Amino acid sequence: MRIDGRCVIDGQRRAAASGETFDTVSPIDGRVLGAVARGGAADVDSAVAGARTAFDDGRWAHQPPAVRKRVLQSFAEKILAARDELALLETLDMGKPIRYALSVDVPSTARCIAWYAEAVDKVYDEIAPTGRHALALITREPVGVVGAIVPWNYPMIMAAWKLGPALAAGNSVVLKPSEKSPLTALRLAELALDAGLPPGVFNVVPGFGHEAGEALALHMDVDALGFTGSTRTGRRMLEYSGRSNLKRIYNELGGKSAFVVFPDFADLPRAAATAAGSMFFNQGESCNAPSRVLVHESIADDFVAAVAAQAPQYAPADPLDAATEMGALVDTAQMATVLGYIQAGMDEGARCVTGGRQALAETGGCYVEPTVFDCVGNDMTIAREEIFGPVLSVIRFRDEAEAVLLANTSAYGLQASVWTDSLNRAHRVARALRAGTVHVNQYDEDDITVPFGGVKQSGNGRDKSLHAFDKYTELKTTWLRIESA
Ligand code: NAD
Repeated sequence: MRIDGRCVIDGQRRAAASGETFDTVSPIDGRVLGAVARGGAADVDSAVAGARTAFDDGRWAHQPPAVRKRVLQSFAEKILAARDELALLETLDMGKPIRYALSVDVPSTARCIAWYAEAVDKVYDEIAPTGRHALALITREPVGVVGAIVPWNYPMIMAAWKLGPALAAGNSVVLKPSEKSPLTALRLAELALDAGLPPGVFNVVPGFGHEAGEALALHMDVDALGFTGSTRTGRRMLEYSGRSNLKRIYNELGGKSAFVVFPDFADLPRAAATAAGSMFFNQGESCNAPSRVLVHESIADDFVAAVAAQAPQYAPADPLDAATEMGALVDTAQMATVLGYIQAGMDEGARCVTGGRQALAETGGCYVEPTVFDCVGNDMTIAREEIFGPVLSVIRFRDEAEAVLLANTSAYGLQASVWTDSLNRAHRVARALRAGTVHVNQYDEDDITVPFGGVKQSGNGRDKSLHAFDKYTELKTTWLRIESA
């Protein structure tokens, strides 16, 4: 397999202007996969200039929606045709099991692009209900140059959630992938060019956050910035905007999602299996992982035993083995962070029921056992801070009011779930939980058709669904006077 780490700017592969590169390292075994361009301010300038020219001359923005649709459909088809290569790159670069790179990451990426392609010639503008003397048109226009900065946990999917609506609406995009997983974004840009997307419309500048990322977010000619990443960096995005051109910032940030199990839910084993499956999926590196599991005290012992019994099937193993459920954490730094949180949990008095240690150290890779803590206090570090690793915390509650209070006592508000066989309780609690998405008696349902995003410090944007067009379009009002005869 060919690994080309150069930027994609104006339809061409280019080394960084500085000539500098950095190594991208596989967390599977510590091997260097290849050299990647260390993009900086000069490269971001070139990419934004290319994107601006492409936008202003209308080579994409002025194409009829049906034409943009066909190109993006072809892009989606090329993603599917490159399924094996993209999945392998993703797994090698960030350590997720190949079975899920193949069955989730690649198809979801293609579906997202195809869905926005299909949508774009079905979205109508509006005419306002004015008097007979005038006509007021409310039209959507692309914002212009969109910057996208994405994390490493779902590198392709996170990029597609920005690219789909931004490109379909006619914008030009400059994407900065995470320095920890830059390879698939670069390949996606090549596939888009092969599909007929004009040069300059989709550019990728790999590099570090404080270099390429900062330059993009501070750029005076970027009109909107879609960011997915940590709350810490999201805060900076708002500062960058304030310090530059007040570009629109859409933040999709961290989470500490509550999974609330009431004693009136009969199928406790299913709730426990879902909690474990959702928490340990993607090695726990999911923004919406149910990392705070709130369980009524009367069923907590049984529930903890049932969750712990799930752990062996998530024992970390070689991500390239098709049977593996849980792979490697993204790098040694993330592994150290996760192990540090586990130590904090023990130091603060939580009970480690299973896991808690590094695994497979002899491989040179970054593996941590699936870990379950019981008797966690909602004010403990492991309940307050996002760990982003395979660590599930069980917090016990006495009644519904306390459950809601604990669930909402968090800086985050990305997702939540409630498990109950009472219809009234399901609606009551779902309404009371402060989160962008609430699940009832399940946690896995997800689809491109529904918005995804959070409240509080989980961010303000919404990826997916037709609502995502709001981020990458401006509403324009055009008044026309109609003279009386
Ligand atoms: P991160 O904030 O460290 O990095 C995200 C991106 O921002 C990377 O591309 C990085 O290079 C860039 N960046 C870092 N510092 C920067 C700076 N000073 N200026 C400009 N850019 C900078 O986050 P991460 O560790 O890559 O990702 C994990 C986080 O992403 C978690 O908090 C997770 O919850 C969140 N996430 C949220 C969603 C969502 O939809 N809400 C989805 C996936 C991940």
